[in-house]
Amino acid sequence: MGAQQVAERFAELYGAEPEGVWAAPGRVNLIGEHTDYNDGFVMPFALPHQAVAAVSRRDDGVLRLHSEDVEGGVVELRLDALAPGTDRKWTAYPAGVVWALREAGHEVTGADVHLSSTVPTGAGLSSSAALEVVIALALNDLYDLGLQRWKLARLCQRAENVYVGAPTGIMDQTASACCEQGHALFLDTRDLSQQQIPFDLVAEGLRLLVVDTQVKHAHSGGEYGKRRAGCEKGAALLGVDALRDIPYDGLDEALARLGDEEEVIRLVRHVVTEDERVERTVALLRAGDTRAIGPVLTEGHASLRDDFRISCPELDLVVDTALAAGALGARMTGGGFGGSAIVLAEAADVDTLTKAVEEAFAAADFKTPRIFEAVPSPGARRLS
Ligand code: ADP
Ligand code: MG
Repeated sequence: MGAQQVAERFAELYGAEPEGVWAAPGRVNLIGEHTDYNDGFVMPFALPHQAVAAVSRRDDGVLRLHSEDVEGGVVELRLDALAPGTDRKWTAYPAGVVWALREAGHEVTGADVHLSSTVPTGAGLSSSAALEVVIALALNDLYDLGLQRWKLARLCQRAENVYVGAPTGIMDQTASACCEQGHALFLDTRDLSQQQIPFDLVAEGLRLLVVDTQVKHAHSGGEYGKRRAGCEKGAALLGVDALRDIPYDGLDEALARLGDEEEVIRLVRHVVTEDERVERTVALLRAGDTRAIGPVLTEGHASLRDDFRISCPELDLVVDTALAAGALGARMTGGGFGGSAIVLAEAADVDTLTKAVEEAFAAADFKTPRIFEAVPSPGARRLS
């Protein structure tokens, strides 16, 4: 939905023009999966899909929220009553951002918000971060808070971790806040240093397809916790702060020290090799060799499937079918057990690939996947 439409709807709902309209995108992670809670590297880029919010300030301690995409009317909350864990609905995301800002000592005295988003929810494309970041950026501008992008991302992560109660790393919010058009964001999740890496697919005759399998297997929450705990155990056994500290060329030696801890060995091997894959991807893109990242993506999928064991039949089918139909590379992206996969392909092969994946899903009696092209798009910004 465009800025104009969102502003008009705001005026209908609240009886006045908004002070401004902002946008924040969803993201897809090119490479670097399950590395963020190991202090490692990630490499997301912003999607053209975004949350758009029209916002005005209020000075009476009231927060009014409305989403075009959710049934029900305007929700009115009192700022002094905001408390973590009290809201189980969508409003917890924007309210959590206001709470996090205020808790960090920033003066926010209220707001009217109307928003609409084209980021699919629950597809591993970070609709939640888009929602948080668009609110944070709007309030940062309107209240003249002067917070830098990375800091806004931190506060949004805090909103999601503490207020909503969802354990997520820092990648999603940083991607939405900091990505740039035509680039992927190389982010070190330990010190939050970031570099924009040129990733102009279209100029090179390439496309990146996102295949949303439309499935989310029920055990995903618990399994995430188990992987995370397993990684922490690995770091403790190896005497490092985080698995990030195991150098790639010291991997064999580290695995030998883990003895018969089979489960931990697999997790450590994924995390350490995945960090190396991110670094290899960065080097290839810097050298202008975009096609060569295909096999790196595919290696990453094998590692997530065999060592980290968080893939599922639908994701494996996307990857296998795409590769057999001529894709340069493919892998699952996001937390796993469903959600989306990405496929890197020559522009000329997109139709064949799309058809092959759709047919394979029909033949397997899986839900029809949602397939779209992802162009590296701008991060959060003010629209009007
Ligand atoms: P993901 O971030 O992968 O899409 P999450 O479970 O983290 O999935 O976040 C999805 C939740 O974010 C939704 O259930 C809803 O509460 C909230 N959300 C996302 N987009 C919107 C929207 N347009 N309007 C209202 N709530 C939204
Ligand atoms: Mg999310």
